[in-house]
Amino acid sequence: MAYVISEDCMACGTCLDECPVGAISEGDIYSIDPELCADCGACAEVCPAGAISPAE
Ligand code: SF4
Ligand code: SF4
Repeated sequence: MAYVISEDCMACGTCLDECPVGAISEGDIYSIDPELCADCGACAEVCPAGAISPAE
């Protein structure tokens, strides 16, 4: 399991500092490395766009 970032991402950067394992990368749309994501949900709680959710 890992969290994923959707196309709703506004590239605001809020989630970047919330990740305890450094799994989030910057970009036009931010992305989460599924190999690193610890499934904690911290990033999803702070995203103003609601763009982060658990993978199906
Ligand atoms: S769910 Fe947790 S570990 Fe995974 S990307 Fe978000 S903050 Fe990082
Ligand atoms: S907090 Fe949400 S909108 Fe902002 S960069 Fe992260 S995923 Fe994108």
